[in-house]
Amino acid sequence: MLELKGIKKDYLAGENTVHALKGIDLRFRRNEFVSILGPSGCGKTTMLNIIGGLDQYTEGDLIINGRSTKDFKDRDWDTYRNHSIGFVFQSYNLIPHQTVLQNVELALTLSGVSKAERRKRAKKALEDVGLGNQLSKKPSEMSGGQMQRVAIARALVNNPDIILADEPTGALDTETSIQVMEILKEISRDRLIVMVTHNPELAEQYSSRIIRVLDGKLTDDSRPLTEEEYQ
Ligand code: ADP
Ligand code: ADP
Repeated sequence: MLELKGIKKDYLAGENTVHALKGIDLRFRRNEFVSILGPSGCGKTTMLNIIGGLDQYTEGDLIINGRSTKDFKDRDWDTYRNHSIGFVFQSYNLIPHQTVLQNVELALTLSGVSKAERRKRAKKALEDVGLGNQLSKKPSEMSGGQMQRVAIARALVNNPDIILADEPTGALDTETSIQVMEILKEISRDRLIVMVTHNPELAEQYSSRIIRVLDGKLTDDSRPLTEEEYQ
């Protein structure tokens, strides 16, 4: 489904070049719940952003469903981001003065479906994360765990193949983190989930595969895919 081939990423920071990723080779498929662990600054967010098409790689190739992205035009990246990827962030990134339902509907604005259909799908996504009875609440009236579930519903509403989550439980207590992980595990049944986390216990308990990164390089992959599994 997704392959990183020799991915390198350099950032220019004033006079200096930061080598954020130094050649990453990885393959992912559907049904995987992958956790990425590593110290701050090792390149985890950069990797997630490259996988999600939010940031361009400097060298190497990202292969999406067998297709190289080297010749992707802006339009191809837009399509990929809008239809194949859902993002979940540590800080939820919800619009505070809009209702929960509106927040989720907004993700469908570019999808070309009717207002009525948008509403129906948004409701369904919120039901799927256990918030079907909170549609008219504002994020500011909710707990962190509830806000993160709204953010997951928003990521799911386009029915993407891939969910990318950057420290989704970073701002949550243990009990709420577990609720969020249960939901992510559930939705990984017919998708690929790639999650950056600082919590090795949650990674061990909930993900199907753990990848460790240090200083822009992979240091461990608990379950690399065989050639056969990747096909
Ligand atoms: P992590 O997510 O593991 O904390 P990041 O991917 O955010 O790591 O960052 C990897 C390295 O790249 C760090 O040294 C960071 O300072 C640097 N970096 C990240 N984004 C930028 C940027 N936009 N400009 C310059 N340097 C960056
Ligand atoms: P995290 O540890 O969660 O990755 P960071 O504080 O490293 O968070 O980065 C937050 C944001 O700032 C990221 O989007 C990253 O691209 C950007 N960033 C990180 N380091 C730098 C840097 N040295 N220069 C410019 N932007 C940076």
